[in-house]
Amino acid sequence: SFERVADTEEELTPRAPIITVMGHVDHGKTSLLDYIRKENVIAGESGGITQHIGAYGVKLDNGQKIAFLDTPGHEAFTAMRARGAQVTDLAIIVVAADDAIMPQTKEAISHAQAAGIPIVFAINKIDKPTANPEKIKEGLAQMNLLVEDWGGKIQSQDISAKTGTGVKELLEKVLLEAELLELKANPNRMANGTVVEAFLDKGRGYVSTVLVQGGTLRVGDYVLAGKHSGKVRAMQDERGKNIKEAGPSTPVSVLGLDGAPQAGDKFNVFLDEREAKTIATKRTQLQREQSVRTQRH
Ligand code: GDP
Repeated sequence: SFERVADTEEELTPRAPIITVMGHVDHGKTSLLDYIRKENVIAGESGGITQHIGAYGVKLDNGQKIAFLDTPGHEAFTAMRARGAQVTDLAIIVVAADDAIMPQTKEAISHAQAAGIPIVFAINKIDKPTANPEKIKEGLAQMNLLVEDWGGKIQSQDISAKTGTGVKELLEKVLLEAELLELKANPNRMANGTVVEAFLDKGRGYVSTVLVQGGTLRVGDYVLAGKHSGKVRAMQDERGKNIKEAGPSTPVSVLGLDGAPQAGDKFNVFLDEREAKTIATKRTQLQREQSVRTQRH
């Protein structure tokens, strides 16, 4: 049925953290995401990440994995949360060391606090002669956010998204913080998760980037995502490589849905195609009725 049966403790295994990067405009969110995407070429793979699919996975030298939602800015984060999607485990908040705590920095902090997720501060642009990371840490302290250097518990790392200084250390701190969360999922069940983005591709049809949160998604599965359904025809990773299955905390592009679901829509796998289709149709009808009602009023 549609309702998920709760996993027992024995069924759960550790999963990689899912990270969102937030911060004030021009403080370096995109640069950081780009740097991580380019530098972290998974061992044994040739070539970096070739396509923007809204999320990607990286693997550190020690084999640990991190999944990034590649949608810098607060809109995606708040839009997903508004749709009830709890996707992010931890937020990296980027603050430019040559600037100050700005309105959107405060907003990012509020978003993370409202979501109840830990924050790791990335104090960026330390390659600049005008950079003053201590001033940023002082600013945070004035907001009652004490970073470790200031005797507090919040992790922060001085970085340059331009040169790469400190980025490895930042990711290590992120993993350390994530470890405390004891993130787990059951890979041995039908998959569920959240849609990150979806679009119509000329050659491939509807492409939906989904983040698997529980279970394992496989080619051939019947999926329902928002108002759309279909049989998974193919799956591709961020390198455009075909993959057969995707476990918890894996972002993957799914081909085969009959439309483009919205960011933040949940997806579930069904035993048969008809059940998935029936619910998708009902949802479309329900929405039509609602919009007719709204128009009348
Ligand atoms: P976003 O708006 O937060 O995504 O910021 P961007 O990543 O687009 O960066 C804004 C500007 O700052 C761009 O011109 C970047 O090249 C520059 N920038 C970002 N990170 C660094 C850094 O570490 N050092 C220097 N010198 N410039 C940076």
